[in-house]
Amino acid sequence: MHELSFAQEIVSLVAQEARDLGVSRVVSVTVTVGRLMAVETDNLWFGLDVLKSQFGETSQTVFLVVEQSVRLHCSHCGQTTDMQNWTFACETCGSHQVEVVAGDILEVTDMEVADETEGTLETMETEGKNDDEGECRKECYGSKR
Ligand SMILES: [Zn+2]
Repeated sequence: MHELSFAQEIVSLVAQEARDLGVSRVVSVTVTVGRLMAVETDNLWFGLDVLKSQFGETSQTVFLVVEQSVRLHCSHCGQTTDMQNWTFACETCGSHQVEVVAGDILEVTDMEVADETEGTLETMETEGKNDDEGECRKECYGSKR
């Protein structure tokens, strides 16, 4: 399952990028995967979701994995077409003088970070301990009898 090693690479890269930018939280990341990479997008997404907790910057990040179809540019007729049926041939004229112009990437194409200038979300420290203790005390005393 090479998706996991790709996921590890991406998560590390995003966390590093966040540190370089001086932000503490990455909101969302879009990963574009070309079909030629032969990556299971579901597995990649799962890997990202599991591995993101390694870094504080990415622990809350929403990852989006989008697939990119393979596009071929034909040097014979000049058309750029989507590759059909895994055949490296021009859809328009059938020529094999084609070049892959899309679909062979696996990279972060979009990254949204928290706007630190507007102030980060304040974490409220709710202390409901007293109530819980009250509840517990009653139950504990009850069970002792
Ligand atoms: Zn052609």
